This record gives sequence, C-alpha cells and structure tokens, in this order.
Amino acid sequence: MKNALILLAGGTGKRLNSKIPKQFLKIGNSNIIEYFLYNLDPKIFDIIVIAIDEKYKKKYSNSLKSKFHNHNIKFSKSGKTRQISSKNSLVYLKKFNPKKILIHDSARPLVSNKMIKKTLKLLDTNDSAIPFIESEDYIKTKNNYDLKNDRIFNIQTPQGFIYKKILKAHILNKDSNARDDSSLLEKNKTKIKMFKGEKYNIKITKKDDLIFFKKIQSKNFRHGIGYDIHKIDLTSKKKLILCGLKVNHKPLIGHSDADVGYHAICDSILGSLSLKDIGFYFSNKNPKWQNANSKIFMEFCYKKLKEKKFKIVNLDINFICESPNINKISYLMKNNISKILKISTKIISVKATTNEKIGLIGSGKAIAAEAIVQIVNE
Ligand code: ZN
Repeated sequence: MKNALILLAGGTGKRLNSKIPKQFLKIGNSNIIEYFLYNLDPKIFDIIVIAIDEKYKKKYSNSLKSKFHNHNIKFSKSGKTRQISSKNSLVYLKKFNPKKILIHDSARPLVSNKMIKKTLKLLDTNDSAIPFIESEDYIKTKNNYDLKNDRIFNIQTPQGFIYKKILKAHILNKDSNARDDSSLLEKNKTKIKMFKGEKYNIKITKKDDLIFFKKIQSKNFRHGIGYDIHKIDLTSKKKLILCGLKVNHKPLIGHSDADVGYHAICDSILGSLSLKDIGFYFSNKNPKWQNANSKIFMEFCYKKLKEKKFKIVNLDINFICESPNINKISYLMKNNISKILKISTKIISVKATTNEKIGLIGSGKAIAAEAIVQIVNE
C-alpha cells in the first residue's frame, strides 16, 4: 500500500459551544467532514482512517461509508488528545503498511486536492512535509512587545510523513499532549520540511470561521419543472381562480379549487426537491381536498423547501390560454405567490401565451400552466 490518510474527527467542538462536534455540524445538506470527502479526489488515497469517538462512529459510520463508497474508509478510536487519536490510527494502519501518510484535521474541509498531492510529492524526497502560512498581520504580544511578522507561522494540516518515521516518533514519545504530529518529529531531531500552505485552508474552530465557511462554500443549485391543465366549466356561474386570484371568467373543473397556476408551481418545487408530484401528497380521491384552497398545497411546498434548507432563486410561470388576459393581472398573482413562498416579486415571472386556436386550449375549453423554479441551499 502506498498512500494513507488519517482524518482526525475526535474533537468535541467545545469552542463552538455546540452540542454536536464541529466536524459533524450540518451546513446546508452536508456536514463539515462530508464537505471534505466530497471534494477529495478518490484516486489519491488507498485507505482513509477516520479517528472518531465510539458514540459518533455509531451515528455516522454507515452513512459516511455509503455516501463515499468510492473511498476506502475505515474507523479507529479517537483518544482524549489529538496525539492519542493520531497514534491509535497509526497503530491501526500497521497491517496495511502504507509508505506515506497524511494526517489531517477534519475541521479543515477547504484544503485543495492540489495541496494534498503536493504534500505527498514532497515525501518522495523528505521524511515530512508540513504546510504553513506566514502571518500578514501586524502582531503584538499582550505586553505590547512587537513581533516581526516574518517570525510568525501558522501551521496547517494535512501534515505528511513517511509512515514508519512518524509511527516511531509517536511510540518513542512519552508526553501525550503534543500540539501536532510535526512537533513529535522535531523532538526526535528529524528534519522538518516546511512548505507554503493555502490561506483558505482554515480550521473551523469558532463562530467566525463557520460564517466564513458558509460564505465561500459552493452552492447547490437545483431546478424543477411543473405542468398542469384543467378543463373550463362553461356552464358554471362561479369564478376562475388563478394563483389565488379570483378572475371574472368561467372557472376550471377540478377536485380542489382547480388553481392550475398554483398546481404547476407546486409540482416545480416538489420536483426541484426530488419529491413526488402534487397528486401523491394531495390525492384527488381524498374528500379532504374537495374544493380545497390550493394555497394549502403551496404552503406545504414552502414547508418542504424550509425542511430541506433550500430557498427559491427564481420562479417562472407560463399560462397557456386564450383568455383571460394574464398580463393585466400578473402583478396581483405575483403578490399572492410572493406572500406564500416568502420571496420578492422581483424573482417571480408570470406570463402567458395563447395556443393559436389549436386544440382544446385553443378553442377556449381548457387552461394550462407550466412553471420552472431554481432553488439553492441556504
Ligand atoms: Zn391541477
């Protein structure tokens, strides 16, 4: 075996004042450790050992293994300190006998594959490869003592080592609270190879780091399409309802209020969330939904968006009908939609086309609507 990765995920997240350790904090659809694994090129490592507390192993190991089945993921027991976690994983790896090993903090999800590969490459000619960032800030100590900037380094991970060397350093070391793995090698008088890390490879430790991470994480955009058609009841004296608006026009026939606009919007939202169609949730066989106000269906879709932590980026609705004149009333429909879905009218479009007198719609016997929505994780 050539390359192994140890992912330290034993932290308890005390500094973030959260019940869940930071590496398992969910941001949008994924937690922090998952962000790292999503971005990691599966060709780099032959094995990944995640050092994890027994309690969290029970909770997360199955989902991590199935979500990232393209990685060879194993688990080892985390310890009370970073160093014990590291050592446990190194000992666990004995039977796999890797040549090179990278040890990484799972709270640094933003490291690039380029830097990971560079660390491994440096191990061709060095026993270790430790990334650092030079401080660019003006730094003073508490006693107002000026420090020269060129003497301040922030040490990052992943730290790369020749497996046998770092295993030996861990076994020889008696003090169990080293700051990182490279400091053990220094104690052992092994030469440390330093190289320039990546500024954005931050460690998520405090609330500010979380805010930064949320700001720069890649957005998960999704789209959904919806279509609906209802026949016009030419004999009824009731009014037509389009996107919650009562219109002076013959109404549509349907189990609910037959709001063809809202139905198309609902299906587009449900589609964008990979859910089933509106008929699945609000069956036209269920008497409960007879003459129902379709606003209820829209509110249901809004709830689903919130549950899955998505928001609408833009919504486009197109009616296909000979009448009524949609352009004249579109702003009122937009107002209704914006209130239910809690979005600005600026990102809603309501427009229409006729069917050029063709077919059922063209002869004024039916109205159809189509909608397309774009959503993004919050
Ligand atoms: Zn419908």
